[in-house]
Formats: sequence, C-alpha cells, structure tokens
Amino acid sequence: MAGITIAGLSTVYPNGVRAVDALDLDILDGELFALLGPSGCGKTTLLRTIAGLEGASAGDVSIGSRVVTRLPPGDRRVAMVFQDYALFPHMTVAENIAYPLRVRGVAKPVQQETAVRTAGGLSLGALLDRRPGQLSGGQQQRAALARAVAASAEVLLLDEPLSNLDARLRLEARTFLKKLQRELELTTVFVTHDQAEALALADRIAVMDAGRIRQLGTPREVFQRPADTFVANFIGSTPMNLVPRGAEIVGVRPEYLKPAAEGLFTGTVSIVENLGVTSLVTLDCGEDQIGYVVPEDEEPEIGTVVTVDAPPARVLRYDKETGLLVR
Ligand code: ADP
Ligand code: MG
Repeated sequence: MAGITIAGLSTVYPNGVRAVDALDLDILDGELFALLGPSGCGKTTLLRTIAGLEGASAGDVSIGSRVVTRLPPGDRRVAMVFQDYALFPHMTVAENIAYPLRVRGVAKPVQQETAVRTAGGLSLGALLDRRPGQLSGGQQQRAALARAVAASAEVLLLDEPLSNLDARLRLEARTFLKKLQRELELTTVFVTHDQAEALALADRIAVMDAGRIRQLGTPREVFQRPADTFVANFIGSTPMNLVPRGAEIVGVRPEYLKPAAEGLFTGTVSIVENLGVTSLVTLDCGEDQIGYVVPEDEEPEIGTVVTVDAPPARVLRYDKETGLLVR
C-alpha cells in the first residue's frame, strides 16, 4: 500500500505536444482519486506516465517512498486497466486473471487459487472457463479488474473504466467499483471525462486542463466552490450561471436559486426542461439567461416574471480578467 507523489512532472511527446505540464500532485495511500477533464487535457498521458508506459520529460513520480521515474512498468507495482479492458482473447477468464502471476513465475497452484478467490470476490466464479468473447461488457470489465487486483499491485490505475458500458450497467459498475476499492483499500486513480462519475465515486478530484491541474479537492469542494470559471463550467449536471457584472463574474448554481420576493435575478420564464424529479427553468433577464431548478409540480408557466435568490454563501464571484475565484 502506497500513495503517489508527482513532482514537477512533464510529459512531452516527440511531436512537441506537452501533454503533462509541470504538474505537482499528492495522491494519498488508500485513496480513490479521480483525474477529471475534457478530452485531450492529458489524463491518459498522466496515468501512463505514472505506470511507466510513457517516459517523463521532467520531474519525478514516487510510489510510497520509492522514486519510480526511471523504473520499467513491470517494476513499479502498479496495475493498469485500459478503457477497452485489453483482456487476452485467446485465454480463459482464469488464465487472464492468473497471467500477471504466471509472468512472475508464481507456482501454478497459487496462480489457480488466487484466480478462483479473486474471481469469486468479483462474482465471476461461474465464468472462469469462458473466453472474453463470451462475456458481457460488465463481465469483461470485472475480469480486467480481477486481473489487476490479482497482480497484488500497490496502486491501481483505471483509464475510463466505465465508459464502454451502457448507462444502466455503468451505474451498477460504479457502485461495485467503489465497494471493491473500499474493501481492498488499494490506492486507486481513475480517469474520467464524466463529472457526475467523478463526483459520485472519488474521495478527491483533480480537474485537469491542458496538462495542468485547475483544482484539487473533494467532490463537495469542487462542486460548491469551483476555483475558476473553467471548473465552474465543467462541474455540475446543469451549467453554472456565470453573469458578468462590472469587473466580476457572479457565479451561482441553478440548484441553489429559489423564487423569492426580492433577489439576485428577475426575468421571464422562457424554457422549462424536465430533469426527472426536478425541472430546470430558464429565465430571460435582458442579455443574460439564468437557470434555476424547481421540484416537480412547481414549474412556473412560460411567460411568468420570476425573481430568484440564493443564500449569500452560495453566490461566488470570479475575476473577469483571470477567471479566478475572488470569494
Ligand atoms: P485525455 O486522456 O485527457 O483525452 P491524452 O493524454 O490522451 O488526453 O492526450 C493529451 C494530449 O496529448 C492531446 O493533445 C493528444 O492529442 C496528445 N497525445 C496523446 N497521445 C499522443 C501521442 N502518442 N503522440 C503525440 N501526441 C499525443
Ligand atoms: Mg484518455
């Protein structure tokens, strides 16, 4: 068991793309940590650099007290699960799970015992003799996880582990992954571009953009107090209201605005979108459009004039020039 320390890390591809740019990050022992950001921001490259599949151009990666920057992947005690699971198609589930042990020369009975035990823990006990082609997406994902877990690594690296699953299965797999990680207490870093997945799963999140970290915090911190307008735009299932006023941009989440006699914004209801047990109402306020969320059956009529307000602690102010949170 070990945390991960990343210090001044840069990864530059031969074509000159600086995919990871002078990045510092401490991931704690036993933590379930999310790297979150839009496509192309450098998440996969960072994960691959931790695993040793890409070379660092500058800086260091440490796992526990060991600096691993110049170690080959096989000596880092990390296990990585890729987006496409990358199971060996010609091997059975049992053979796939035992593979890292076989490579290390572990005795055959121990290989088998570990495969059976790990598969059992992941509800794959009945599928040990199947090949990947005979498994559902969710089963393949669990087999890939089982292989990573059986490798008894200190660190588990997951690149978009749920993105190939359909929506319903993804929710199930998400809960399962969280439970498994709690049981194993294995330092786990998972990459996702899905902010809802990061908020639901992670102990802490690093929001990345252009090879750097924009914000590091708990799901609650990044949701309630985005450090800049980039994070404010990226996090949340409804877009944050960002309204320029003088030298500042006022930021307030639609979920925190409620109808009131007096308040921050007044406008005419133009759109009502059903979100399930809530609806998102859009107010036309001159040049600005303001969204706020109401419970089901409390939707206003289109064309009504509504004033909305939020508790002062929920109203954020960003610098118009830098986009950084002022208070
Ligand atoms: P993410 O996983 O967040 O989508 P990546 O780490 O895959 O981002 O990519 C980060 C940047 O590095 C992108 O600009 C991408 O085009 C570039 N990149 C990724 N892999 C390579 C590569 N093998 N060679 C050159 N550039 C690459
Ligand atoms: Mg990626």
